[in-house]
Amino acid sequence: MTPSPRCASWARAAVRELTAATGELLWLLVPGTCVACGLEAGGGLCRACLSRCAPPRGPACTRCGAPWTRTAAREGWCGRCLRFGRPFAFDAAVALWHYRRAARRLVHGFKYRGRREVLGPLGARLAGCARAAPLVADRRQLVVVPVPARAVSRRERGYDQARELARGVADALRIPLEVRALRRRRQPTAPQAGTPGERRRRQLRAGFRARRARVAGRRVLLVDDVVSTGATADAAARALRTAGARWVGVLALAS
Ligand SMILES: [Zn+2]
Ligand SMILES: [Zn+2]
Repeated sequence: MTPSPRCASWARAAVRELTAATGELLWLLVPGTCVACGLEAGGGLCRACLSRCAPPRGPACTRCGAPWTRTAAREGWCGRCLRFGRPFAFDAAVALWHYRRAARRLVHGFKYRGRREVLGPLGARLAGCARAAPLVADRRQLVVVPVPARAVSRRERGYDQARELARGVADALRIPLEVRALRRRRQPTAPQAGTPGERRRRQLRAGFRARRARVAGRRVLLVDDVVSTGATADAAARALRTAGARWVGVLALAS
């Protein structure tokens, strides 16, 4: 039985009050609500919150897509690229939003509260972002590849959020989706020499393997939900290039 609209709006109002009292984002448990604010929204995200997920404005770092306004630009690299210490293995990167406020709650909704229904529409939005960037001006040999989630997260969640986003992107752009192009490798467990930073970089490098048959000679649009330090996207791009990909562009919801 589906609840009447009046009953449903009463329930939503009650959940919002509980949310205010407990500080927990309880509305995320209620389907048909906006993941960012709890108001009624068919697609899982209302118009007001969509507009509050602010797209980065102005010029962005050509290496990683970060806007100059947030990070000090020196010698042509943004702060993140300077911290990373070497050029990223991808050729371009674009994010739809800053990873804060509404965008942060949105990601929380689909990552930890099972709000999978927002991913397809968000993928279509990402496709619009890729067109505007423009990451997809040249479509020859272009494929969409998601950064695979860790097996344990996928099992817990019941889905892989980057894969669902990537499907939305591929459908909207009408370019092929290759969900098995990248695989995560088991992380080495034995203690290793080197500083913690060196160990982490080495682990991340070992973190992915790409299938040559699926990517060799092709151009890859790599899709992930959030790019933070850029290390994961870098490791995935490196694996793709090692397997013969000609170009790798990163497309993320938030950065
Ligand atoms: Zn909202
Ligand atoms: Zn950068």
